[in-house]
Order: sequence, then C-alpha cells, then structure tokens
Amino acid sequence: MRLDGKIAVVTGGARGIGAVICEKLAEKGAIVYSCDLGAGEFTNPNIKMVNLNVTDREGITKFVEDVKNQYGKIDILVNNAGITKDSLIQKMTEEAWDAVIDVNLKGVFNMTQAIVPLMLENKSGSIINMSSVVGVYGNIGQTNYVATKSGVIGLTKAWAKEFARKGEQVRTNAIAPGFIKTPMTKDLPEKVINTMVEKTPLRKMGEPDDIANAVLFLASDLSKFITGQTIGVDGGLVI
Ligand code: NAD
Repeated sequence: MRLDGKIAVVTGGARGIGAVICEKLAEKGAIVYSCDLGAGEFTNPNIKMVNLNVTDREGITKFVEDVKNQYGKIDILVNNAGITKDSLIQKMTEEAWDAVIDVNLKGVFNMTQAIVPLMLENKSGSIINMSSVVGVYGNIGQTNYVATKSGVIGLTKAWAKEFARKGEQVRTNAIAPGFIKTPMTKDLPEKVINTMVEKTPLRKMGEPDDIANAVLFLASDLSKFITGQTIGVDGGLVI
C-alpha cells in the first residue's frame, strides 16, 4: 500500500499519536503537513511542520490557501488534535468545558470546513476523526471530553452522507482508541492504568503505532468502500 503523490494534513501532529501518524503516512510516500501548536521532531523531509491552532479559523484559511497554491489539493485530513480538562461536573468550570469543546469538536469542524471543498472539487478524499472509547461508553469526570468524542462519532456519520451526495468518493471515518501510551496518558495514576489494562481483553495498553496503522488503512484505497464508520482500536475494551 503506497500513498505516493497524496497530500495529507494531520492536526496535533507534533507528538503522541499524531506524530506517529505523520511518520507512517510519510513513510508510505505522502507529503504530510504536521499541524500543531509547537514543532515536532522528524527526520523524514516529506513531513512539513506548521504552527497551527485548530481553533484559529483565520490561520486555517491561510494555511489551506497556501497548500492549495502549492499542490492544488488535499487528499487526507486526520483530525487528531485533542485535549482533556477532567473533573466531575460539579467542579467543571465553564472555561474547561469551552476549551475542550473548542479544540476537540469545533477544531474538527474548522479544519474540515476549510479543507473539504478541495476534496469535493477533486471528487476524492479521506477524512479521519480521532474519537475515543469514552465517546462510545462514557466516563466519570470527563463530561466535556466525552461530549466531544461522541460528537465526533455523530458528525462522522453526517459527513459520510453529506460529502458523497453527488457521488464524490469523499469518505469520513473515525477511530476510537482505547488506552494508548502517549504524553496524554502518562500522568494517569498507576491504579487507573492497571484497572484499564485488566478490563482490556488483550491485557495491555496500545501503542501510537496501533492507531497510526488504522489511519493508514482508512487513508488508503484499501478502505475505499468504508465510510461513516468508527473503528475501535482498543484491544477489545469495548465489546
Ligand atoms: P497528546 O496530548 O500526546 O497529543 C495531542 C497533540 O495535540 C499535542 O501535540 C498538542 O500540542 C496538540 N494540540 C492540542 N491542542 C491543539 C490545538 N488547539 N491546535 C493544534 N494542536 C493542538 O495526545 P494523544 O494521546 O497523542 O492523543 C491524540 C488524539 O487521540 C486526541 O484527540 C485524543 O483525544 C485521542 N485519544 C487518545 C487516547 C490515549 O489513550 N492517548 C485515547 C483515546 C483517544
């Protein structure tokens, strides 16, 4: 499976799952824009780092215009940027609610709204949204985060229908990772991690690589008849 000649955009691409997604897409031959608040460390010259906040609609418009001028298209969009600001609802500040909705949900809207016209013009494209197992089964202390990750599953279905309505081959799918070893999970208490591992049929945490492999599949023509789906990459946690 090769992605030569494809142009990919990955948000939150500087570290964790996003950085590995950038590396894998570039390894397969794609030109990859790693969009993040800070720079990542990459050796592959096909990965271009872009300072971009997914909440900055003006910055996104300018970025997409630049890519359009250079390549005339974007084939793959991975809406991966995400944050957590956890607490029980009684203690959740309005600011924590707004911040998580702004990045995890509105950020997905902002990026897709700016990029999908290029895909529709080209009648082809693959959008991959990062959800989470908690968007499927809920979680204590994550009202804001869960709302965004469930929302992402919903808009994935809406877009699968909307972006193909004139027969365009623009597909939208989501991935719901289980517990993955990244900077996002490294500070979780050991007790929490052990409990999650015990509940996971495959009895381990996942690696960013596991998620990036699913992205590769959804980005490529190997999945050309798959749209509107949320694929669990979770060691069997949600069964
Ligand atoms: P991470 O915190 O390691 O990386 C997230 C990246 O997103 C960071 O580089 C950060 O700078 C970037 N980012 C944050 N806000 C941004 C913004 N406004 N604009 C652009 N970039 C921004 O997280 P991760 O574990 O690699 O998670 C990646 C995605 O996978 C997230 O959407 C997360 O919710 C989801 N996820 C992770 C896990 C897990 O166990 N790690 C599980 C389920 C879902």
